[in-house]
Amino acid sequence: MTIKTLLRQSHIGIFAIILVAISASSRAADYRGPLLDAHLHYNEEAWNGQSGPHPLEDVLARMQRNGVRAVVANSRPNDGSKALAASPLTSKAGVTVLPLVRLYRNRADYDNWFRDDSIHDMVLAELAQGTAAGPYKGIGEFHLYDSANANGPVAKKLMALAEARSLVVLAHVDDRAIDLLMANTPSKGQKTRLVWAHTGIAGAEPSRVDQLLAQYPGLMGELSYRPGLTCDGGKLCPEWRALMLKYPTRFMIGSDTWVNQRWQYYDELMKGYRVWLGDLPPDVARGIAWGNGAGLYGLPLNP
Ligand SMILES: [Zn+2]
Repeated sequence: MTIKTLLRQSHIGIFAIILVAISASSRAADYRGPLLDAHLHYNEEAWNGQSGPHPLEDVLARMQRNGVRAVVANSRPNDGSKALAASPLTSKAGVTVLPLVRLYRNRADYDNWFRDDSIHDMVLAELAQGTAAGPYKGIGEFHLYDSANANGPVAKKLMALAEARSLVVLAHVDDRAIDLLMANTPSKGQKTRLVWAHTGIAGAEPSRVDQLLAQYPGLMGELSYRPGLTCDGGKLCPEWRALMLKYPTRFMIGSDTWVNQRWQYYDELMKGYRVWLGDLPPDVARGIAWGNGAGLYGLPLNP
């Protein structure tokens, strides 16, 4: 081998090293801090107290190995979240439960809660009773498949009640229903603490989300199942990244374990969040992963 060949080869080697270094630095490290799962269900088909594929040990192990340190829990019926809140295994796993009153005792309630007075009575009874982890922090998740039902008599009463008692509302609704629900509160949405499940799953454009966040200071967006959120390599699409940088205190992540399959993919869901969170400035990532939910539900900023 001549000196010339050696030099040429070492140049190629250095060039390759530089290329590797560039590509490694352009791929940001995944977010590694604590997570607050702001939309979790522990429904009876997961575990009904006696049987089911996901007993407490199982769901807590999933949270623990994913660095999930707090969960906003609600369940159909409410026994699931209460069991999670009451178990010594939960505190042993280092998980804080933030319980919400679910409006559904069974599947039939999904389509009728907004006009069913017995639901209003059930919510009042649950709130009076509380859970082993302390008082309920809010109500929901509820659905409105037709946004006009935001004006149902029980929907109106519950929105007013939530605001009067500083309860958080977790709502799976479209953008029109956000306006209607807010209009049904004493402050007309200026003091309402409403978490928009999936942040407009029915197709509200990022520009419309922007408009609503500007209009209602207590509106926050939870990001499970949000179509159009991530693009290449699981990173945020540009318009969503811009929205999070514009409103860094207004978004949270969630699992939405509404069916057992979501429990089976809990690891992947949380890993997916960690990928795109790692692509944001560290303080913004930490806020979306933990701090925004911690602020809303009164948890320490450093768990
Ligand atoms: Zn849900």
